[in-house]
Amino acid sequence: CGIVGYIGRRKAAPLILEGLKKLEYRGYDSFGVATLGDQLELEKHKGRISEHAAAIRLHGTIGIGHTRWATHGIPNDVNAHPHTDCTGRIALVHNGIIENYAELRKGLEKRGHAFRSETDTEVIVHLVEEQYAKTADLLSAVRDTLPLLEGSYAILVIAAGSDCIVAARNASPLVLGMGDNEYFAASDMTPVLEYTERAVFLEDGDIARLTRTGIELWQGTHPVKRPVELIDWSPE
Ligand code: GLU
Repeated sequence: CGIVGYIGRRKAAPLILEGLKKLEYRGYDSFGVATLGDQLELEKHKGRISEHAAAIRLHGTIGIGHTRWATHGIPNDVNAHPHTDCTGRIALVHNGIIENYAELRKGLEKRGHAFRSETDTEVIVHLVEEQYAKTADLLSAVRDTLPLLEGSYAILVIAAGSDCIVAARNASPLVLGMGDNEYFAASDMTPVLEYTERAVFLEDGDIARLTRTGIELWQGTHPVKRPVELIDWSPE
């Protein structure tokens, strides 16, 4: 399983699909991509990326992608990530396991949320939806959601009306790639090294906002700085 995100000037989908292929070694049963341009567009499939990649035409220059290794819910198109909220404006990818998802889902269903998948992941995007409806600020919406989650996660979130990607991690790997006016997020640097060797490794509890001009980092609500590391990938 793995995740890849991109924000910059290029079309995000082809780059993300190539990146996801490089994470194939981590194992997966399904995959998906969502991009943001004039609107949110999404495609996800059970099976191998190479079977579907040529047919995927998403236009946005902001995007998130996922290869899934199912833990909750069988591998199929619906359970594949990204998952979206009820409004269809927010998309999210997740690696890890949300231990308290059953309880969260019960509460969300009582409050009127309709679930499409059997995944633990889907609760996160509905929780973000509730916060985003209040503030229209994706960073604070994700930040206010995280304390409700028990378990492990690396997540990437995009939303129509927000020119950014919000990323967060707890006990699942996530690294940011620092290009020139383009920024990446991924489970490890292999999808990113073609574009930049500059990496910022997130720590547990970190939340990041990637925009077209840079990245900002917080540990909870406190701004933090993490070192930019140079990854030497010359073959031995
Ligand atoms: N627990 C989530 C699911 O089953 C994410 C699995 C993963 O890390 O790929 O959909």
